[in-house]
Amino acid sequence: MPICRTCRGEYGQQEAVCPRCGSDVRVWDRFNTTLRKFVLKQGGVLGLLPSAAALAVWIGWVPPEDAGNYFPVLTLVCVGMCLLAFFLVYISYFYWWEQWWAQQIYYAFPISLTLLIVVTAIGGLLLTPLWVLYYTTVGRPVEFIDKALFAAIYVPAFVCLTTAVTAIVVSDYITRLEQSAPPPIFASTERLLRVVVDAAINTINLPGLNTRVSAGSPNLDPVYEVLQTLRIPENGGIHVLLRECKRVQYPGADGKMQSKPMEMLWQVQADRWGRLQVVRPGSLEPYDVDKRVFREIGRHSS
Ligand SMILES: [Zn+2]
Repeated sequence: MPICRTCRGEYGQQEAVCPRCGSDVRVWDRFNTTLRKFVLKQGGVLGLLPSAAALAVWIGWVPPEDAGNYFPVLTLVCVGMCLLAFFLVYISYFYWWEQWWAQQIYYAFPISLTLLIVVTAIGGLLLTPLWVLYYTTVGRPVEFIDKALFAAIYVPAFVCLTTAVTAIVVSDYITRLEQSAPPPIFASTERLLRVVVDAAINTINLPGLNTRVSAGSPNLDPVYEVLQTLRIPENGGIHVLLRECKRVQYPGADGKMQSKPMEMLWQVQADRWGRLQVVRPGSLEPYDVDKRVFREIGRHSS
């Protein structure tokens, strides 16, 4: 089944709205790009130019060697590494999109696509003149140590350029994604809270138990209220304190069924995608005031 990138939940092929988070999923069908589409229609072909340049250098510039196969092997390794870098940057485009949002919301690892572009572009632009200078002044490497040194400059130069150019194409793609697609669920405490509360209520009311309790009497349906919400700044997760209010039936002294209201508190913890980690009976506890983010969304009826 396809994955909703807003909440990482699954949805059916024919569905227009994610059943888990309620966001429009048609945008993900539109933005799910294949490698072929990425190369031919979205500018990904630019990321293959450094590989083509490495082939051109070998075929067109470096004269055939008298002995050995240093340059053919070097070119093969270089093109292989470039294609690997190209592929890794291509398949991680959703990661960079999430990373961009993560850095706005919590203490995510401080790496961004822009940083990757700057570092690899600088690397490529410094190393490329270096190997050209080496080759034109020192000449073709002959000794093993010279060959190793030349390869250590030559291969990273093309890999850095491939990474930088591919990352620029991916960056353009992500900009369009940010404009069209709903942000990940962890970017909105309220939306994350609703997904977590729905999942927690489903967990608390085990299938079968809930139908037995409420059978034939809608007044016995439990009602839930969010008392406290705390975002976890380290990983974007969430703590929720949930109050469950329900009427419980019991046989009275005269044999007739009676009911009385009961209340229970639940402590719920979920990760930034709303996946439950802890659901346990809890109580009101004082949180660290500095970290507390308090929100209420009111009563949530099951
Ligand atoms: Zn979703």
